[in-house]
Amino acid sequence: MKNECYIVRDLLPSYIDQLCSEESARFIEQHIANCEKCSQLLHQMSVEFDTQEQPDISARLEQKKPFQKIAHFFNAQNKFAKFLHISFWIALIVTLGSFIYSLNVLSDFNEKQKEAQVVEQQKQDIMSKAFATLTTQANIDETALQVVFDEYSAQLQHLAVFSTKNIDDAARLQNGPTNTFPIDYSQAAIVIGENGKITEPIIPNDYDIGTVAMANDQWIVQYEYKQSYLKKVENAHQVKYYAPSNWTIFQLPFVFTIITLFILGAYLFQKRITKPVENILE
Ligand SMILES: [Zn+2]
Repeated sequence: MKNECYIVRDLLPSYIDQLCSEESARFIEQHIANCEKCSQLLHQMSVEFDTQEQPDISARLEQKKPFQKIAHFFNAQNKFAKFLHISFWIALIVTLGSFIYSLNVLSDFNEKQKEAQVVEQQKQDIMSKAFATLTTQANIDETALQVVFDEYSAQLQHLAVFSTKNIDDAARLQNGPTNTFPIDYSQAAIVIGENGKITEPIIPNDYDIGTVAMANDQWIVQYEYKQSYLKKVENAHQVKYYAPSNWTIFQLPFVFTIITLFILGAYLFQKRITKPVENILE
C-alpha cells in the first residue's frame, strides 16, 4: 500500500459524506482511478453507508415528526397569542375612548346640575322675597311686589298673589315652591307683569313645569316662567328627577375594562404555557 493510500483512506468517510474540499475530492478520484484496492474500499464503504446511514436518517426524521407537529401546534398558538395581543390594544383604546366619553358626559351632567341648582335656588329666592312683601294682613304692597318681579323679569312672565280664603287646597303648597296646575288668575288679589299690574284676564296653561306656587297661612304666591326661560327650567327638572347614576354613566367603560382585562389575562396565560415549550424547541 502506497503512502497515498493511507491519506485517501483517511479522507474516504468525508468524501462519502461529501464533506471534503474540491481539491481533496479530485485527489481521491484520481487516486481511485489508478488504485484497485482503494476503489474497492470506496465501493464497500458506500454500500455500508447506504444500508446503515440512510435508515438512520429516515429513523431520525421519523423521530422528528412529533416535534414537527408540536412546532406546528405552537406556531398556531403563537398566532393566537399575537391575535390576543392586538385585541388587547384595540380593547384598551376602546376602553380609554369610552372612559373619556363618559367623563365628558359626567362633566356635562355636573354642569347641568349646577344650572339646576341655580334654578332651584332662584325659586326659593323669588318666593321668600315675594312673601317678605306680604307682611300686612289686609293690603298688598304693589310697589314692593313689582320690585321683586323686576329683579326676575328676565325669567318671569307674571307673578300673582291669592288669598288663601278663596282657594281650597292651599295647604299642599305650604312645604315650599311647588310645580303646580295654575290657579285661575281671575281669583288673584293681584297679578304683576312687565309693566305693572295686569288687569286683562289670563287664561291658565295646562299643567306644566312652568308654573310654581307656594303658600303660607294668608297668601299664595304663584308665578309663571317666560317661554324663553322654560328650556332651562325643563333641564333643571330633568336633572332633579331623572338624573342618571354614576353607574349608568360609567357602565360602558366598565364593561370594556372587564373585556380588556379578560383579553390581557388570556394573553398572559397563553404566553405562560407556550414559553417553556418554545424554549425547548429552540
Ligand atoms: Zn490506494
